[in-house]
Amino acid sequence: MLTIPAMTFREWTGPLTADLVREPVKFGLGQIPSLLKPDAVTKAVCGFCSTGCGLNIHLKDGAAINLTPDPDYPVNLGTACPKGWEALSVLDAPDRARMPLLHGKEVDWDTALRYFCDQMKRILDQHGPEAAAFLSTGQIMFEEMAFLGALAKFGMGMIHGDGNTRQCMATAVTAYKESFGFDAPPFTYADFEESDVLVFIGANPCIAHPIMWQRVLRNKKQPEIIVVDPRTTETAMAATQHYAIKPKSDLTLLYGLAHLLIRDGGVDQSFVEAHTNGFDAFAAFLAAFTPERVSAESGISIERLLHFAKTIRDGKAVSFWWTMGVNQGHQATRTAQAIINLALMTGNIGKPGTGANSITGQCNAMGSRLFSNTTNLLGGHDFRNAAHREKIAAATGIPVERIPDRPSLAYDQIIQAADAGTVKAIWFVATNPSHSWIDQNEMNRILDKLEFLVVQDMYCTTETAKRAHLVLPAAGWGEKEGCFINSERRIGYSPKVRRAPGQSLADFHIFRLIAHYWGCEEMFREWQTPEAVFRVLQRCSEGQPCEITGIEGYEMIRMEGGVQWPATMTNDEWRMTNERRLFEDGKFFTEDQRAKFCFDEPVVPPEQRSAEFPLILMTGRGTSAQWHTETRTGKSAVLAKMVPEELMLDLNPEDAAKLGVRDGQRVRVISKRAELTVLTRLTGCVKPGEVYLPMHDARVNQLTHASFDPLSRQPSYKHSAVRLEATK
Ligand code: SF4
Repeated sequence: MLTIPAMTFREWTGPLTADLVREPVKFGLGQIPSLLKPDAVTKAVCGFCSTGCGLNIHLKDGAAINLTPDPDYPVNLGTACPKGWEALSVLDAPDRARMPLLHGKEVDWDTALRYFCDQMKRILDQHGPEAAAFLSTGQIMFEEMAFLGALAKFGMGMIHGDGNTRQCMATAVTAYKESFGFDAPPFTYADFEESDVLVFIGANPCIAHPIMWQRVLRNKKQPEIIVVDPRTTETAMAATQHYAIKPKSDLTLLYGLAHLLIRDGGVDQSFVEAHTNGFDAFAAFLAAFTPERVSAESGISIERLLHFAKTIRDGKAVSFWWTMGVNQGHQATRTAQAIINLALMTGNIGKPGTGANSITGQCNAMGSRLFSNTTNLLGGHDFRNAAHREKIAAATGIPVERIPDRPSLAYDQIIQAADAGTVKAIWFVATNPSHSWIDQNEMNRILDKLEFLVVQDMYCTTETAKRAHLVLPAAGWGEKEGCFINSERRIGYSPKVRRAPGQSLADFHIFRLIAHYWGCEEMFREWQTPEAVFRVLQRCSEGQPCEITGIEGYEMIRMEGGVQWPATMTNDEWRMTNERRLFEDGKFFTEDQRAKFCFDEPVVPPEQRSAEFPLILMTGRGTSAQWHTETRTGKSAVLAKMVPEELMLDLNPEDAAKLGVRDGQRVRVISKRAELTVLTRLTGCVKPGEVYLPMHDARVNQLTHASFDPLSRQPSYKHSAVRLEATK
């Protein structure tokens, strides 16, 4: 079993002195795990996206020198996308944070941690437990997330903390919880290969999840591949049917399909009667979604709507997949639930090749959803439930009175509170909201009001780190160990195979140090190593749908090619296969074990076209070589060659002709909030009246309109009004 030797905080009793951090190897801070053979291959899961590909890491003298995709890993079967291939090279960037920075000046860890604790304590003491918050990420290991959430809330006494998963997965969480009774994506990747109809809604896996797309291409059933997307994306080009709907008419379209399935005999009555609640009310609600109305509102002809519904009706195994086109909408939760409703009413759930399947974004978004101690109490529990608090207190050994009795504010509400002055300090961990948050200028105005802004990150040059009062330098993927949970609920292990640069430390160790400096390390005496925290979290998961008590430790995860939850002690059936889906018995996680039909009347997006701003701007992923704010992928010379040098706006030739704009011409894109200059790319992939920008450029979110799904509080990045002006 791999363990990181030394840096045994049990042995360490005093403050971390400058001498100590100058000699990291002596104290184990930068050591390679001693049990890795000097020249060998070890296994890891990729730390970029939620696909969770297995990689073979090739070692020389005990340190990683190269990687190749793992042919035996059940996720990727020997393939990797460009980001995965470059996972090691991006660690060598010159702008890695190597030392703590206090007001931009290098300081030692002792100074940094004393300052951190002094400032946070002062603010919490003077203004109460709601005055400081943390905002975390789906990028760190789930043991680290749990430690952060437990440290901040139980140890330091904060109430509020959320993750950047609010920007990508909050909608799926909210939808699944209400419809299924728990945040439970039901699928396994084998379902890509076993469907005879795959419906992708607001999803472009060719670019965003290329290895999942490879699994689709392995499907030997010659499936119908249906894409619902306003743009003719790469996936739409490869599909057998593409429905280029008007932006954000997806909810109406989905209700229209449900209407037709009822009208034309596409409902699995026996499944609906045996396993669901609320269908009759849903059917009555759908009466208004006639083909005529849906066609007018979505832009899809009645004939094509009928063909779409018939394809679902005729499918023997129909799977529905969605990502950010749905999750990042102004009515996102109800849209996700409209997809879930289609799967439920047609009985396409719990069987091979079926499911209402939300594809996750970040490598550990699923870990964040269940174990970050932000919206949910550890293990998918509820802060408001006294029995849950008692259970987690017993599982962690943390006094129950230290566990807050209410969940955190959501990300956007924390930022609003910072604007109002009630939140005065925010600790950002491995996330870059100065770039990624919607209506970026407004976000940055608010961040600049904070009394204390801390960024803990691998790089000191992120847009957010540059605004920080204190930067804590963190190790990255490959420089620390722990587990991620991927889109199909698979827990994968990633070892430490390199030294982190300078005096940067694993996030895990930073949390350990803060616990010591704060004076609450006794509360976390069991939390000595990531694997020890894994065992604590196993206890927290007991009795939950996401129970993982049956996993024997890291070695089992490594040897089995990852383990999907649930994996219980009491039931051994899960050991028979490493590809499992949920709800095969038709039992859901609600009190009566029935899934629920949830629905609401569609409403128009808050920002509409106008005479002044006649175009709808959509944003999303650019290429398979780019990751989010490019904090890491932007460092790779190889990946840079796969990306346009300048920011390019996709513009329909009809609109270009009206504006007198050529292909490759510089234009100004102007919204109510900001303007920026880009190059045009004339393409029929966007319809007239619509334009598209990739989200990776640091300026794009200056344009976006801040609206939020009212149920999930997820920002809507897909519908802002803009105009174009040619530059001289
Ligand atoms: Fe890594 Fe995702 Fe690419 Fe797989 S698809 S190699 S997990 S970035």
